Amino acid sequence: MKKKGYRSRALTMKYHGIAGSELRAAESIAEKGEAYEHRMVELPDLKEAADLGERLSEMPSTFIPMRNAIFYSVAAGYAIEVGSDYIVGGHNRDDVGVFEDTGRAFFSELQKAFWIGSKLLKDRRTTILRPLQHMSKQEVIVQASRLRVPLELTWSCHRDGNNHCWKCAGCANRVSAFDATGVVDPLRHPP
Ligand SMILES: [Zn+2]
Repeated sequence: MKKKGYRSRALTMKYHGIAGSELRAAESIAEKGEAYEHRMVELPDLKEAADLGERLSEMPSTFIPMRNAIFYSVAAGYAIEVGSDYIVGGHNRDDVGVFEDTGRAFFSELQKAFWIGSKLLKDRRTTILRPLQHMSKQEVIVQASRLRVPLELTWSCHRDGNNHCWKCAGCANRVSAFDATGVVDPLRHPP
């Protein structure tokens, strides 16, 4: 988007229990990417399944009920406020198998709902883009490496701290995805 001359803004949701290190990573990446603004929205009552108790114990621990309906509605409100042409999300193909609110059907109806629900979004034709939707997590890593994305600033660990623990599920997914691509993880193996 930046190459095409768009001014980009970053949006981070500060939900219940989100790791401070994840927020710091979001800040560093927004800064490095020269985001025009990085807005953090406080959603302290929004919790992951792991913090919601027994009834959702079957769900992945990071599941947040109606996450994307909430996140994208916040983004749409922000888009109206500042006047945006696009709302860009980073869901990849692997996410769709786990969370149904990351798939094409959901976003196509959400797009319609936004235009029905807001004349401002409709008149501007503000559109949800998901440029990574057809790519696997591994393909995203390869593409990021090609585009010189500062992968050393990204955060995958589910625990808080200054360093990745390299033991939790988030870290394990990162290691296996990088290993499968052959791209060296600059965070695990600093140059
Ligand atoms: Zn970890």
